[in-house]
Amino acid sequence: MATPRTVLQLERKAPSFRPSTYFIQTWGCQMNEEDSEQLALSLESLGFQPAASLLEAQVILLNTCSVRRKPEEKAFSLLGELAELKRANPERVIGVCGCMAQARADEIRRRAPHVDFVLGTGHIDEAPALVEHALQERRFASSLDLPERKGAIVTDVPSRRLDRKPKLKAFVPIQYGCDKFCTFCIVPTTRGRERSRPTRDILEEIRRLAANGTREVTLLGQTVNSYGKNLQEGRVPFSELLWRIAEIDGIQRIRFTSPYPTDFRQDLIDAIRDCPKVMEHVHLPLQSGDDEVLRSMRRLYTVDRFREIVGRLREAVPGIGITTDLIVGFPGETEEQFRNTLRAVEEFQFDGAFMFVYSPRPGTKAADLPQVPIQERRRRIRELVALQNAISVRKNQSAVGTAFEVLVEGPSPKNPDRLQGFSRENKMVHFVGPESLVGQTVLVRATSGHLWGVAGDLVPSH
Ligand code: SF4
Repeated sequence: MATPRTVLQLERKAPSFRPSTYFIQTWGCQMNEEDSEQLALSLESLGFQPAASLLEAQVILLNTCSVRRKPEEKAFSLLGELAELKRANPERVIGVCGCMAQARADEIRRRAPHVDFVLGTGHIDEAPALVEHALQERRFASSLDLPERKGAIVTDVPSRRLDRKPKLKAFVPIQYGCDKFCTFCIVPTTRGRERSRPTRDILEEIRRLAANGTREVTLLGQTVNSYGKNLQEGRVPFSELLWRIAEIDGIQRIRFTSPYPTDFRQDLIDAIRDCPKVMEHVHLPLQSGDDEVLRSMRRLYTVDRFREIVGRLREAVPGIGITTDLIVGFPGETEEQFRNTLRAVEEFQFDGAFMFVYSPRPGTKAADLPQVPIQERRRRIRELVALQNAISVRKNQSAVGTAFEVLVEGPSPKNPDRLQGFSRENKMVHFVGPESLVGQTVLVRATSGHLWGVAGDLVPSH
């Protein structure tokens, strides 16, 4: 698919737009994807329709990400290009939403004066009001409020549109913000303090999704397993929320991301073991295999504590899929400390990992520490990726002969002759079968293992 930059370069000669259309460019995490769906629904409630391309759209929203430097650079670069469109058609509306809007609103205004509004992460439900304001008033506006107090009973969560589009799998935010303040992370600044969404609202949204055909939900939160701490109606432990969701007819699979290791209690492990609708997969961010680096990152656990959780998970749920996040080249990370991460990866045998080169974020503590040279960071990431990839391939190859329960999503985008879905353990599975299976749960016996997952044969049902 063409990137927005290419679209603009190719079509610059035709800068007019179709009235009452919108285009949303999204960067970043699942929470942002989810926010973009909410933005789309709210624009549609005003009578706007999706545009075929950015160039055709009257309202252009950039839903931005600040977790790393690159997506911010891309957003500023696109904003630069949009200046020309705005000059040609001042009736266009350009809004910047999400984490970069929250953290760098002043800079956006300075570098991109053609932007009509910035909308932070606290109240994306204000998008329709900001668009209408831009259309009528033609004056810059912003909405950047975030709840400030830690540990307070906070009911200040965005109201959500529940008229969501039908989908087999859906993300459902259950918690906003974060109270952990890892020294490398900008999220507590961009998304504010941790607050949980009222339980009844979550259940109502999932009931409506299920009635509309959703079979799998993934619960989203920055530290999702600390859900429920500051609820006005009283504490609802995360494990209890899982059990309550499991009672909803039509929902077959429940996933969640990402839990934080220190809050990973036994009741959650029990729920994964005992609740048939909770999938046997945990994405548990380790970040570093060295205790001193973890301390410097202000992660609140040690490698030993992580080891204990992984041990208890594997003991309770044999075959559980465990994936992780890892950062290399954190400020001050020595070669030996990096080797400790390699040793941890070798020991824990993760099924997969998101692996990152440390990227300094202005406004975080770690950004002010002496940095590991970028060439060194790159060397380390290459070594880490090679090791983890070899482990992933080995694990997938050793799964040959195992039958996996797969929720069939549709033809594989890379190989349309095959159907694709994910196993309970979150392994990607490819197999040959009729399209009538889409939306159903089938058994597939793995015949070959790859870096991306396994290919297999459909096991006939009796
Ligand atoms: S737990 Fe740490 S890395 Fe995760 S969102 Fe919170 S501050 Fe960021």
